[in-house]
Amino acid sequence: MVTIKVGREANTKRLKLVSGQSTKVMGDTNSVPNSVSREHAEITVDDYDRIFVRNINPANQTMVNGMRVMTCEVTRADTLYLGSQGYQVNVGSIVGSFVKEKVDIRHLETIYVNYKQALLNEQKKNQRVNLWRTLSSTMTTLAIGSGVFLSLKSGGSTNYAYPILYGCAIVIMLGITIWTFMHSNSAEERERLTQKFQDDYVCPKCEIFFGNMPYKQLYKRGKCYNCGVEFKKVM
Ligand SMILES: [Zn+2]
Repeated sequence: MVTIKVGREANTKRLKLVSGQSTKVMGDTNSVPNSVSREHAEITVDDYDRIFVRNINPANQTMVNGMRVMTCEVTRADTLYLGSQGYQVNVGSIVGSFVKEKVDIRHLETIYVNYKQALLNEQKKNQRVNLWRTLSSTMTTLAIGSGVFLSLKSGGSTNYAYPILYGCAIVIMLGITIWTFMHSNSAEERERLTQKFQDDYVCPKCEIFFGNMPYKQLYKRGKCYNCGVEFKKVM
């Protein structure tokens, strides 16, 4: 957790920010009116990157989005209006002087889980197709075998039942072959899934692909190995 005290620098009348041992100033000389106290407001950033502003003294005036506040949660995009003349300062620029911005990577969990599930489904579909292929070739072998056996047994005499049977068998085989062919685009499908995964499973800041590092492991790391941006903690 980081706490930043915001107030007016007595001599230069610039905005003074104090956090722990560190002091920074913002704005031009003589830009901060006297209605801004020397210790006017306090900004706190917690471990989950939530930002709160607190008006230190009830006599001070602090406004956020047109509302006078004593304490309230704010975002980096909000503007504070300090003092009766409404000295404007952006929350992000105050916080940014002391706290590195963190990125939210929660959406990557769904992306990772969905990708792994899709690969698994693809694998199962592939197994089904292979089963049908095996079945198809076994049936072909059986049909040819029984055909040869039966024609030998009948002593070469003409029997119209066999050509009809063979015909049916061939139609069924063809059907199965066409069906398996239509469902055997798994290499392409895997390629498409992988491509999408590589586009989506990336650092929100520098967009580097996080490879096959599982989401949980990535989250535990706490930051991007490439650009170093820290990940927001999830409550
Ligand atoms: Zn990065």
